Amino acid sequence: MTRLFGVIGHPISHSLSPVMHTAAFTALHLDALYSPFEVPAAILKPILKGLLAAGVEGLNVTVPLKETVVPLMDHLDVTAQAIGAVNTIVIRRQKTIGYNTDVVGFRRVLVEDLRYDCRGKTVLLLGAGGAARAVGWALVGLCPKRIWIVNRTYTKAKHLVRDLCRATALYHSPRRIRWGMGFAALPLDALTQVMQEVDVLVNATSLGLYVSDPIPVVPSSLHKNLVVVDLIYHRDTPLLKAARRRCAVAIGGLSMLLYQGVESLRLWLRRPAPIEAMRRALVRVVNKVSG
Ligand code: NAP
Repeated sequence: MTRLFGVIGHPISHSLSPVMHTAAFTALHLDALYSPFEVPAAILKPILKGLLAAGVEGLNVTVPLKETVVPLMDHLDVTAQAIGAVNTIVIRRQKTIGYNTDVVGFRRVLVEDLRYDCRGKTVLLLGAGGAARAVGWALVGLCPKRIWIVNRTYTKAKHLVRDLCRATALYHSPRRIRWGMGFAALPLDALTQVMQEVDVLVNATSLGLYVSDPIPVVPSSLHKNLVVVDLIYHRDTPLLKAARRRCAVAIGGLSMLLYQGVESLRLWLRRPAPIEAMRRALVRVVNKVSG
């Protein structure tokens, strides 16, 4: 029988997950389908019930459902629970288990792709939504000196700082906490001022998703010692282009998308994912879209 998987979100047409996972199933010679499902938040609960009844074994969850879906899970992995966002659902015997594989995805970008050691560094995280929460959690595990968070809605940045402080207590020994990381939610207008002190800049806002979006920082504040990670994966964003013009290291979100997908597949199938086939499929589709 054909095995069923998919991704839920709204809008969903931009998602590259179907391309990546279909390539994985082909490489594994698996009789399986991965479909996008357009699901507005208002009808999430009945749709989820319907997908379970249809025998779906695994789902990815994307904007804007990652937080909305949390209370609907039968079980939550400890990381997803701490972050308060789910991007992967494993369904076993009609029960749902929520995971967050964005954490592993971001971690692998810094550690494996960039071979970057965050210890002693200052990280500026733009955004406080589901993706920023996963990035923040991954960063806590990598022990930078400071994590600064800037978000359009300041209170959300403050809440994320509070939650990351709690995460640090879970992750690290009391001694490390005493000497360790500093967290702060900074106001939007402090952004340009602090940039010279920043080593790593992560854009985890939706800015850059559309061609007409403005760049989230003043381009002249970017400097050559920066590492810039933009979670947007459809194209080279104005932020990445501006960072490269200033000779900074700049990487887009495609790798993170790949790694989080690899981890989702591992959770669904309980076997290693064919990472190179998935990477090739993603690169092919992005090159095609960006012309
Ligand atoms: P989300 O929960 O909806 O959060 C969106 C974030 O962007 C919030 O911090 C929001 O600020 C901010 N924002 C939205 N519009 C803005 C604007 N016009 N100006 C300034 N800030 C704005 O979404 P998410 O799940 O965190 O995803 C964020 C982005 O990351 C999306 O583009 C998504 O595609 C991408 N992403 C990539 C990967 C990957 O693997 N590469 C993984 C996850 C997500 P407020 O709090 O003020 O609303």
